[in-house]
Amino acid sequence: MWMRMRFDLGWRDVAFGVRSMCARLDRDALNRRIRECWPRPEQMVPFLSVRSGFDLLWASLDLPPGSEVLMSALTIPDMVRIVEHHGLLPVPVDLNAANMAPELNAIRRAITPATRAIVVAHLFGTRVLLEPILEIARQHGLLVIEDCAQAFDGCHDDGHPNADVTMFSFGPIKTITALGGGVLCVRNAELLAKIESLHGLYPVQSRGSYLKRFTKYSVLMGLSSRPLCDAILAMYRAAGFDYDHWINGVVRAFPGPGWLEGLRHQPSAPLLAMLERRLRMFNPAWITARIARAQHLIRRLPAGVVRPGSAARDNSYWVFPVLADDPGRLAAELAEAGFDTTRGGSLRPVEPPEDRPELDPKTARRILAGMVFMPLCPQMPRREIERLAGVLGQLEDCLIIDPTKVEPPKIFPRTVVDVRSG
Ligand SMILES: *Cc1c(COP(=O)(O)O)cnc(C)c1O
Repeated sequence: MWMRMRFDLGWRDVAFGVRSMCARLDRDALNRRIRECWPRPEQMVPFLSVRSGFDLLWASLDLPPGSEVLMSALTIPDMVRIVEHHGLLPVPVDLNAANMAPELNAIRRAITPATRAIVVAHLFGTRVLLEPILEIARQHGLLVIEDCAQAFDGCHDDGHPNADVTMFSFGPIKTITALGGGVLCVRNAELLAKIESLHGLYPVQSRGSYLKRFTKYSVLMGLSSRPLCDAILAMYRAAGFDYDHWINGVVRAFPGPGWLEGLRHQPSAPLLAMLERRLRMFNPAWITARIARAQHLIRRLPAGVVRPGSAARDNSYWVFPVLADDPGRLAAELAEAGFDTTRGGSLRPVEPPEDRPELDPKTARRILAGMVFMPLCPQMPRREIERLAGVLGQLEDCLIIDPTKVEPPKIFPRTVVDVRSG
């Protein structure tokens, strides 16, 4: 079985993590070295997670209660809950399925005199073209916050220079994970100082709680080695157990009540050490190879297969979704052929305010309902990618096919900057 649940972490990283659990480490020095991985170190702040930084951002902005925050209509539910927790009103902006960008007209429709900010999520590895959104934001005096949790492709890129805040996640399922950690780029010095002073008041995450997380994921990594995984999945299926639901529960980092308290800690020294290691040792060739695998699959997909984000000008293919009419059957048939897929993952639509049903994000709902992620992983040889495309070719009746797009897909050239040689 080709698993979609692969953690982007090697056994050497795990060994490093185990050693750093009992090492004497200097948190200040690690913080500094993490910042120095980026082009403008003075704007970067490492946090326990993106959500931790996002929560502190609203605490520092201290907007009037009831202020409205526009959000890309697909995101993880915690981002919405955090906005609500600060007495603000999340307002969805529906997406364009072709490039996964918020629709400009939907942004304009959603803006009211109470709107103060827009949170743009770059989903699945795509990058949203930010200029037109920045222009609307400038006209209306909105803060622009970029969520790059799914779009990290190297520290050379710290986000759009005109966005107010850009956020990168190194949580368990993300690119070069440190099994936690988020880095925010805050471009306003005053706001940055406020965030940092509040952050400094937080207790430091205990090494024990990072160790616990570490142990859990090491076990999961062991489980996701292929033979073991095949056996365990077969067992779950035989028992009628909802494995997808279970995995999503396990990878949720701060589950249950008190979730917000869990976020409100400074990262522990071993987490910072791991994050520093991952950023320092990042190899742009990993992203290049990921793009090449995705493009190999794209060239062999049945004509007209609808993929969210297929028209994005820039895509590093963190994940590879296709849209299906019958996602359940597609997933079952692919599993039969040895390809483990997942459906929406942890993404959810942002619900419109009760009195504004016209803002219902219909496209986001449609994407979420039909989306199936393909298990493209680094270990997969080309012939297996071709076999996956072949299986998809036989399942055309469960896929959504766009009859107007039956010519060969466009593939955009893309260069990944190698900061180390530059
Ligand atoms: C993973 C993710 C986050 C949260 O990142 P954490 O570092 O786990 O808090 C936020 N937004 C999106 C779109 C994500 O995929």
